[in-house]
Amino acid sequence: MSRINLKSAATLREPAELVGHGLASAADLPDLEKVAARYAVAVTPDIAALIDPGDPDDPIARQFIPSAEELVARPGENADPIGDHAHAPVAGIVHRYPDRVLFKLVHVCAVYCRFCFRREMVGPGKATALSSDAYNGALDYIRAHSEIWEVILTGGDPLMLSPRRLGEIMADLAAVDHVKIIRIHTRVPVADPARISAEMVAALKVEGAATWVALHANHARELTGGARAACAAMIDAGIPMVSQSVLLRGVNDNVAALEALMRAFVECRIKPYYLHHGDLAPGTAHLRATLEHGQQLMRDLRGRVSGLCQPDYVLDIPGGYGKAPVGPSYLSQANSSPGEGELDPETRYRIVDYCGDVHRYPPKP
Ligand code: SF4
Repeated sequence: MSRINLKSAATLREPAELVGHGLASAADLPDLEKVAARYAVAVTPDIAALIDPGDPDDPIARQFIPSAEELVARPGENADPIGDHAHAPVAGIVHRYPDRVLFKLVHVCAVYCRFCFRREMVGPGKATALSSDAYNGALDYIRAHSEIWEVILTGGDPLMLSPRRLGEIMADLAAVDHVKIIRIHTRVPVADPARISAEMVAALKVEGAATWVALHANHARELTGGARAACAAMIDAGIPMVSQSVLLRGVNDNVAALEALMRAFVECRIKPYYLHHGDLAPGTAHLRATLEHGQQLMRDLRGRVSGLCQPDYVLDIPGGYGKAPVGPSYLSQANSSPGEGELDPETRYRIVDYCGDVHRYPPKP
C-alpha cells in the first residue's frame, strides 16, 4: 500500500488539491467542484496520510473525499434531518430532552465528513462561532433552566476552539449549580491529534462538573498511534471517554470492520456508546446502510465480542423526536405449539442466544 505522507502539509480544502495529491481523479474534478460549492471540504494531513490512493474503496477516503453522488438528493432527505431547529429556544441551544441541552458553539470542524447530519450548517460560508451576545443568551437559558443536568458541547467541533476560550466556557458552565456534566463531542483526536495539547487537556478539566468526551470515529484505522495518545492524555487526566460512530456503507458495514472498530475503542479505554443509523442528510444515500442490515450486524457483533464492545444502535427520528434504539430484539412472545394448549404465562417468552439459537423462558420443566 503506498500512502502519501502529508504530515508536514496543510489541510486540503479544494478539490484541485485533492486531485493534486492523488486523492481524487482529475476526471471527477468538475463534479467535485460542484459538491464543494455546496458542502465544505477539509482533509487534514493526518487523515490524508491514512488514505490509500491506490484503493478505490478505501474506507477513510469514502468518509472525507467528496463524491459526485452527493449531488443527488433523495426523497425524505432533509437539510435538518434530526430536527434541531424544532427545539432551538435560543441561538446555539437545542433543548430536545428535559435534562440536557446541546450547546452549539462553533460551526467549523477539523475535517468535513461526507455523511454529516449538520452538513447544511457547518463549514466555510456559515458563521464560524456564536456571537458574544448569542453565547451570553445561551448561557442565560442554561442558568434559567434548573432541569438541565448535562450540557453537550457540539457543533461543529468544540475542540476547534483555543484552550483559553474552551477553558472560559467550561468554567462558565461549571459555575451553574445544576450543570453537573459537560460532554464534548469531537473528531479532533483522530483528525488532528496534535490539537490535544497539555493546555487543551487542562482546559477540559473543571471544578464543579464532570467532563466526558465522546470521540467520533468510524473505522479502526482512524485510531492511529497519534489518536490513541491524544485519547490517553485525556483519559489519564481523569476524563472518561465514550465513542460514537455512524454505520456507513463501504466503511464499516461488515461485521469484521465493526468488530475491529469496537475492539480498538475498548483497547483505548473508550466505551462504545452509539452506532448511529445514517441520518437523512441531503446527498448521503450512497453512504447509508439499511436498518435490516444494521440489525443483522448488531446480532453478528454480539456473537463475537463482549458486552464491553457493544454500542447501542440508534436512529434519530426525523422531525426532532429524539433517538430510538433500533437494535435487534432478543425476546419475543412465544406462540403455543399445536397440542400444547394454553401457554403458562410464566413460560411465554422465546429468547435468542448469541449463536442465534432460540430458547423458551423460563425453560419448560
Ligand atoms: S466532525 Fe461532526 S459536525 Fe463536523 S463534519 Fe464531521 S460529522 Fe459533521
